[in-house]
Amino acid sequence: MSHDPHCIFCKIVAGQIPSRKAYEDDELLAFHDIQPSAPVHLLIVPKVHLPSLAEARPEHQGLLGRMMVLAPELMREAGVTGGFRAQINTGADGGQEVMHLHLHVMGGPRPWRKG
Ligand code: 5GP
Ligand code: ZN
Repeated sequence: MSHDPHCIFCKIVAGQIPSRKAYEDDELLAFHDIQPSAPVHLLIVPKVHLPSLAEARPEHQGLLGRMMVLAPELMREAGVTGGFRAQINTGADGGQEVMHLHLHVMGGPRPWRKG
């Protein structure tokens, strides 16, 4: 399924739910997390509905690579110079709450919550 009408991040991608966007192209969208755990907390999502990293297959390599390479670009753009964390929660035991693959990118001056 490329779009899940019940998925909150598909709704953000479709513009049905507002978000503070940081980047957009044909394949990817990046927006600010609504409950940031760091001074700069972005979520990078594929526009296509992929539930989690557990569903990633060889054909997703390019997409996943682009998500990873976008992370440092967006941190640089946001003025983050001291480092950042990139994290993909996967499945219930991985702490994933929204079942649409997303890369958390968290940067900015410490201290901030560990997790
Ligand atoms: P997860 O626990 O699935 O890895 O993280 C989901 C993240 O999505 C959480 O950090 C949560 O704050 C964020 N989030 C959930 N709903 C929304 C929303 O409607 N808008 C935005 N911008 N972020 C959301
Ligand atoms: Zn989705």
